[in-house]
Amino acid sequence: MGIYDMNAKMYYEKDCDLSVLDGKRIAIIGYGSQGHAHAQNLRDSGCDVIIGLRPGKSWDKATADGFEVYTVAEATKQADIVMMLVNDERAADIYKESVAANLKSGAALAFAHGFNIRYKQIVPPADVDVFMAAPKGPGHTVRGQYVAGQGVPCLIAVEQNPTGNAQKIALAYIAGIGGARAGIMETTMDIETETDLFGEQTVLCGGLVDLMECGFEVLCEAGYAPENAYFEVCHEVKLIVDLINKGGIAAMNYSISDTAEYGEYVSGPRVINHDQVKANMRAVLSDIQDGTFAGKWIAENKNGRTFFNSKRAQLAKHPLETVGEYLRNNMLWKQQGVADADLDAASK
Ligand code: NDP
Ligand code: MG
Repeated sequence: MGIYDMNAKMYYEKDCDLSVLDGKRIAIIGYGSQGHAHAQNLRDSGCDVIIGLRPGKSWDKATADGFEVYTVAEATKQADIVMMLVNDERAADIYKESVAANLKSGAALAFAHGFNIRYKQIVPPADVDVFMAAPKGPGHTVRGQYVAGQGVPCLIAVEQNPTGNAQKIALAYIAGIGGARAGIMETTMDIETETDLFGEQTVLCGGLVDLMECGFEVLCEAGYAPENAYFEVCHEVKLIVDLINKGGIAAMNYSISDTAEYGEYVSGPRVINHDQVKANMRAVLSDIQDGTFAGKWIAENKNGRTFFNSKRAQLAKHPLETVGEYLRNNMLWKQQGVADADLDAASK
């Protein structure tokens, strides 16, 4: 079988039986981006949902949205399914302090991302089912699509199955949040974690931000106005990405001029030297696979995030950001309205 041959197992609504959740109480731990969406979608799908939190902003919001809210320990005690939707870097402490001792034997422990299982920050007892239900989209989209009668594609992974029902429960859970309407792809938490980290580090966040910074700096250093540079290397990224998202690179090439397409062919490989960039990416992948990256990130959180906070402060001062902020505040598209939910997500 070739490396580009498709082989992922897919599931749809016909493969899911929501009645598997009848009589089961689901505790959603956390009520942020994913938490509010899972909780509300499951409730609208007829499930018995409670929320586990600490007192504060999310607690008040979940209460205002009509949920029964308990401490994480109490919610866990009551639950047949415990879905961990807290910040990944806090999940291990929350699990140790409030979940571990309160999980019912035969319950299911669930995640929307594999990090803590993949890197053994959380090691569940052998008598609970462990599965992942990971929507491939932010929480406001998971909720918005559900309300619109659609869904966000999800990944499913079953890691522990002592009851023999973990797969059915996971499929029902994903149907309950609307994911089965779009499609469910089978994976493992190891694969999900490694590919997710790789994508965000090399292409989506790491790669893209550095690519834009380079383009912006080169234009400004050559004497072009920063406002102009911002439009060309940052603002227009969204237009291009939307086209690719909708119809692939062909749709993007169809919409841009032939001059732009010709430039793509001759200059793309000059900027992204494939052999070198792939070697760099393989090094990043290797750090993800052997735990080097995870170890550093876990240590960074234990040590007060000194590096993380200084990089964040440094980026805030980069002219790409300050010029961009000025332009967004003073040009039309701000008023034209990016959805508030998008801005909420972006400001997280
Ligand atoms: P958010 O940061 O939006 O929400 C975190 C929630 O956890 C908040 O409600 C917060 O409440 C609560 N929380 C934090 N600390 C505690 C604590 N000590 N005790 C109880 N509750 C606490 O997280 P996300 O929804 O973004 O992420 C949740 C999971 O979903 C993660 O595993 C993430 O990887 C995964 N995921 C996220 C996606 C996304 O696009 N956001 C996409 C797919 C998966 P408080 O107000 O009290 O701080
Ligand atoms: Mg991802």
